[in-house]
Amino acid sequence: EALVARIDELVRDVPDYPTAGVVFKDITPLLADGAAFQAVVKEMAARVPGPVDLVAGMEARGFILAAPVALELGAGFLPVRKAGKLPGPTARRDYELEYGAATVELHPFTVPKGARVLVVDDVLATGGTAAATVELLEECGAEVVGLSFLMDLTFLPGRSRLAGRPVDALLEVG
Ligand code: 5GP
Repeated sequence: EALVARIDELVRDVPDYPTAGVVFKDITPLLADGAAFQAVVKEMAARVPGPVDLVAGMEARGFILAAPVALELGAGFLPVRKAGKLPGPTARRDYELEYGAATVELHPFTVPKGARVLVVDDVLATGGTAAATVELLEECGAEVVGLSFLMDLTFLPGRSRLAGRPVDALLEVG
């Protein structure tokens, strides 16, 4: 479809970033194109599986997409941050990266019990960030109704780590 082709055109491949052998998908040219940015946000919002109270976005590129999707849906926005960025009290979850570890944190007092939450990020890679975010949200009493990504790097096991959850991606990159 036209939007998928446009996303593919605008996303820039950066070889050997951040480390040798990795091809980084750079979304800044897409964000700089007003028509494409708007179309992406509207499409992500249109494909949501049901009613949503909160849209959670992962620092930092997830923020850029999650906040306008929340506005489009009339939902709240929930920033999921890296360690040490939010004043307490926070709920946190540590997870493993290929090399090392990372942490996601949020403000649990902004998540009402049973809140229906959509998780939004730019790229689904290994799925570690998204899986940790889902577990953290569920620990806080939220119901994760789906996950929406701009791109799914299908050569990595992201989807299988999120098995059983509704995962949507506008573009699959093989
Ligand atoms: P994962 O936890 O699935 O391995 O990695 C996903 C996280 O890393 C997302 O928050 C995403 O923003 C970032 N990420 C990983 N690879 C890429 C990439 O190639 N391009 C962009 N823009 N972000 C990436």
